[in-house]
Amino acid sequence: MLSAVIAADGRLVSRDYSVTPAASGPDAVVAALIQSSRSTLDAAGVTAGELRAIGIGAAGLVNDTLGLVHTSPNLPGWRDYPLKQAVESALGKPVFLINDAHAAAVGELHFGAGKGCRHFVYVTVSTGIGGGLVLNGRIYEGCGGLAGELGHMVIDDQGPMCKCGNRGCWEMLASGKALAVEARRLIQEGEPTSILHYAVDAESVDARAVEQAAAAGDALALSLISRAAYYLGVGLGNIINVFNPERIVIGGGLSNIGDRLLLPAYAEAGRRAFKQPFDTVKFARAALGRDSGVIGAAVFAHQKTEQINNNGQVK
Ligand SMILES: [Zn+2]
Repeated sequence: MLSAVIAADGRLVSRDYSVTPAASGPDAVVAALIQSSRSTLDAAGVTAGELRAIGIGAAGLVNDTLGLVHTSPNLPGWRDYPLKQAVESALGKPVFLINDAHAAAVGELHFGAGKGCRHFVYVTVSTGIGGGLVLNGRIYEGCGGLAGELGHMVIDDQGPMCKCGNRGCWEMLASGKALAVEARRLIQEGEPTSILHYAVDAESVDARAVEQAAAAGDALALSLISRAAYYLGVGLGNIINVFNPERIVIGGGLSNIGDRLLLPAYAEAGRRAFKQPFDTVKFARAALGRDSGVIGAAVFAHQKTEQINNNGQVK
């Protein structure tokens, strides 16, 4: 988990990165979160009086109004967990909850690659694929906070089974996990490749190993990245047709592969989207890196605090 103190101008004053004890259950994760928050507050030299609010970007289905994390894909044992109340009682400040990909989109909207956009789509391509929709200058959360689950858009209904119950979700075809699974399958089938030089063994081959082998010119690694780029482009084409965004901002670890992945993906999107929305959309790499989520969560908390101060209640 990453905790940070963010100033009112979006400047990141201090940060604390610590391991999330996900397997130990919600109470252990919350204890670690509180400890991490205190560490970053101490490092920033911020007093209790100076801290206005706390924003938490959490993976999964979160509900800020109820203060709950309903479920989280990477946090076993979390079911309707009262995260807001737990952190408020420990740190004595108002806490606001937002989905982590939505937080990253808000961060990019205010201080990153989405600055100045009224309509943009943020796509994070890492182990999975997540997203955030900024429509009319605001994050679109949907009626239950679940909007923007771009990674579960079905691309191939005969494709690999996803944990969500569907086949061929976008993240099963174009994410880091998809790249690694396909690489391991082909290696097991005996395809000649140098990918194994970049991993301890076949089981531990990950997207990074494929990326390194591709950079060294390995044919199998290059074809795996072309395949991921193709599917990435199919999904981007859908997004362009559905949302007609001004900009698509792409972040996440896999996007660090850069042009080798992204340029063919953009070209594939162009073959699939309608001409006019494709001609007007701009593609941009996320500008805030790993900090987009903490900055966005802070912006979200700031906005909610302002609303309370102005209206006496949360809208
Ligand atoms: Zn899915």
